[in-house]
Amino acid sequence: MSTQIILPRMLQVGENASHATPNILASLGCRHPLIITDKMMVQLGYAEKIQAVLAEQDMPADIFDDTVPEPTVASIQAGVKRIQEGDYDSIIALGGGSPIDSAKAMSILGKFGGEMRDYKFPRVVTEAGLPIIAIPTTAGTGSEVTKVTIITDEKTDEKMLCMGIGFMPVAALVDYTLTLSLPARITADTGIDALTHAMEAYVSKKASLYSDSQALEAMRLIAPNLRRVYHDGSDKKAREEMMLGSTLAGVAFSNASVALVHGMSRPIGAAFHVPHGLSNAMLLPTVTEYSIPAAVERYADCARAMGVATEQDDNASANKKLLAELRALNDELKVPTPEQFGIEREAYMGLLDTMAEQALASGSPNNNPRVPSADDLIKLYKQLWW
Ligand code: NAD
Repeated sequence: MSTQIILPRMLQVGENASHATPNILASLGCRHPLIITDKMMVQLGYAEKIQAVLAEQDMPADIFDDTVPEPTVASIQAGVKRIQEGDYDSIIALGGGSPIDSAKAMSILGKFGGEMRDYKFPRVVTEAGLPIIAIPTTAGTGSEVTKVTIITDEKTDEKMLCMGIGFMPVAALVDYTLTLSLPARITADTGIDALTHAMEAYVSKKASLYSDSQALEAMRLIAPNLRRVYHDGSDKKAREEMMLGSTLAGVAFSNASVALVHGMSRPIGAAFHVPHGLSNAMLLPTVTEYSIPAAVERYADCARAMGVATEQDDNASANKKLLAELRALNDELKVPTPEQFGIEREAYMGLLDTMAEQALASGSPNNNPRVPSADDLIKLYKQLWW
């Protein structure tokens, strides 16, 4: 059996990779991009810096900085209009997963119109929108190398998963220096997100030898560095390894799918406005414990790749160490419980059925080694509370 792998056409990786933006644009035959980003990227000077290096090469770029964290249907409208009214030949998506996902949605809607809902999974989006050059500033979602965008429908509180080659950036500039400004909380949440991508891709039913190789390397790069970047954000070596790990984890899950953690995480995020990485972090130990019996060897491989178990550990002992590590990590990185995050118990319990339904409908739980029923999901959501 063979596996189809979808990747960007170009990757520029390493210190100051983002400085190569004009070259990358030129090699794509583009000259007039719209930089889609958020206010923080403007405040940090990142957006203007890219605008300035492009101007030096006679490539006029406008900035659209009205994207919001965890983008919604309404939040992308202004960007879609801007694309439709402008004469841009490309998009530079600069920021964390939110601006990059916003840009992906704007690129397709700006060119082909319609509603975001029209493009949600199980539809596979093969249309080519405006070409996207993605520059991630978190490590992270891996969105710079994934064929996925996630847009929340605020009317139904559903995080819509949209997939297909149409959402794959043509180029990604993976520049860890942009992550040096990340505060500890966001560093932790986005870092655990990347670890979750790697683990879920590795245990996914859709895993292949190709995705395995990316996922295992991603775990090797991410796991030993999570605590380091959380405690010392200026540690360049750790930031560099996290950034590459995050991109490899993105490649892995985009080509093997995520599984139960993501399936359960999106409804929590949509209903209670928990940032994506944080809801994944809350769920990772509980869902891993639930899933281990169906993929004992695979999870033990994760423990070994992460460096928490050795070749001398048998699978059972490696998995014990894996669970202990995931819990210890959440403690040290101060990942709150849903209650500590401020979610009301009654509101949470009142939404158990809806969250279970949405999780199942996303398709992600079907990729999990242990496929849950709606009742199992409700039990797991309850377990997360206690
Ligand atoms: P984000 O983009 O929402 O950013 C979080 C916060 O960090 C924002 O306030 C942002 O301004 C700030 N920030 C980003 N980079 C910074 C930097 N270098 N320095 C200082 N502040 C910085 O966070 P995220 O976790 O990267 O993205 C989350 C979004 O990505 C969610 O909407 C999630 O659904 C989506 N996602 C997409 C994919 C995909 O494959 N498309 C995968 C996972 C998650």
